[in-house]
Amino acid sequence: MKPKILLHICCGPCAGKITELLQADFDITGYFYNPNIEPADEYLRRLQTAITLVNHYGIKLIKGIYNNKTWHSAIMGLEFLPEGDRRCWRCFRTRLVETAQRAKKEGISNFATTLTTSPYKNARVINKLGNVIATKYGINFIETSVKPENRNNPSIARQLKLYHQKFCGCNYSQFK
Ligand code: SF4
Repeated sequence: MKPKILLHICCGPCAGKITELLQADFDITGYFYNPNIEPADEYLRRLQTAITLVNHYGIKLIKGIYNNKTWHSAIMGLEFLPEGDRRCWRCFRTRLVETAQRAKKEGISNFATTLTTSPYKNARVINKLGNVIATKYGINFIETSVKPENRNNPSIARQLKLYHQKFCGCNYSQFK
């Protein structure tokens, strides 16, 4: 029997390749926890892409709560920093901590994230954060890195006709 892993899914298009890679070694449960996505209808649209994707791969999806106000509290004071700066590190941390806590609650001893897939995000920062959080919560963080040429090739997102967003998620990334 394969070990279980809780995979934090930021959106459907980012999740395809990582799901395929991890499925070889793990029994995946997806976790959609992204209170950074604004406005709420954009959040629901991305949630739907995640549902379409996990249904395609036959994996379960846990829907996290949309505590957008709590997320704003977490990044307070960093709102107007450029994308990729410390606001994003705090945003990654918020979602990874919640994923680690949820994994513990579900009795799952491994977690990972699809955030590393994005060409606009620093996978080294995300993997470093994941490892620090894993140590704190006494579980394993599985580092992922998807090579650029494999991100969309073959493009499961295209095949499933997934909505592909034009901005990262928060209002600060939309109106930069
Ligand atoms: S730009 Fe993206 S990663 Fe950065 S704070 Fe906004 S939603 Fe989070």
